[in-house]
Amino acid sequence: AKDKGKNNFQIYSSSLNIATYKAFSIESSLRNAIKNDEFILHFQPRVEAGTGKIVSAEALIRWNHPTWGLISPGEFIPIAEKSDLILDIGDWVLIKVCNYINEWKKRDAPLVPISINISAKRFLKNDWVINIIDFIEETHTDPRLLEFEITESTLIKHEEVVESAIDSLKKIGIRFALDDFGTGYSSLTYLNRFAIDTIKIDKSFIQKISKSDSDKIITKSIIFLARGLKMRVVAEGVETPEQLVFLQKLGCEEIQGFLFSKPVPEKEFQSLLKKETLK
Ligand code: C2E
Ligand code: CA
Ligand code: CA
Ligand code: CA
Repeated sequence: AKDKGKNNFQIYSSSLNIATYKAFSIESSLRNAIKNDEFILHFQPRVEAGTGKIVSAEALIRWNHPTWGLISPGEFIPIAEKSDLILDIGDWVLIKVCNYINEWKKRDAPLVPISINISAKRFLKNDWVINIIDFIEETHTDPRLLEFEITESTLIKHEEVVESAIDSLKKIGIRFALDDFGTGYSSLTYLNRFAIDTIKIDKSFIQKISKSDSDKIITKSIIFLARGLKMRVVAEGVETPEQLVFLQKLGCEEIQGFLFSKPVPEKEFQSLLKKETLK
């Protein structure tokens, strides 16, 4: 019995080491990824539920590693979040998005607002808001074309700083969206306290609405609440026509999901924007 325990421990500890080693090697490669130009931005359209017309898009990062190939953000963002790497990645995304917006404007290409995912860590850096405002002014980026997506846990973790950051950035025209709504420790009072423009219903609810009555009711209530509070509401992860019909009936205005488009590279996104509808 003693031996068995020892073996168990060894198995456990070696698999733990593999996970640790993997995280460690991802982290050390991540440190060079910006310098080596290994990141790419994809854009996923958000469409008007009734017409299928693109009204905005979410910028989503991709990592093209020279030997590992394409690595999804679900794999490396959580690792980056554990260090200040997430701040460098966030800077890269913001700069890239502003560059694209300005380039599209210069080329007279179609323009829609672009959403960016903002890490909770951001709000802990004192000069972050001032730096953003400076950067946007220096690059002559139209702040009304930017929306920042934050999660409920960001709001809860750093209430005061987040509240004042949102207020300052909203003053210059940047919009805010509450991402993955319904999955966090949502307190409805937060919706009143923070100047949120958009609620994004998490895809876990949307993907079960045709099967689960409770997810149907939750989704319905979120849409009702958002409309009552004069917020825009977006359903994420819409994959089927049934889900779309259901959401339309409930008065959900905007849809993001594979039914209309996956996240695509910039060129492809520009050609989608030239279409009248994605229906
Ligand atoms: P998120 O912010 O909730 O982004 C939406 C995710 O849902 C994206 O995954 C998107 O591809 C996926 N999605 C959209 N529609 C559908 C659908 O119909 N079906 C399914 N199954 N999935 C759908 P992605 O691009 O893999 O990103 C995963 C997460 O990584 C994001 O979740 C976000 O938390 C994080 N992330 C991605 N890019 C960035 C970034 O630039 N900065 C930060 N801080 N986080 C990022
Ligand atoms: Ca998001
Ligand atoms: Ca989301
Ligand atoms: Ca998420």
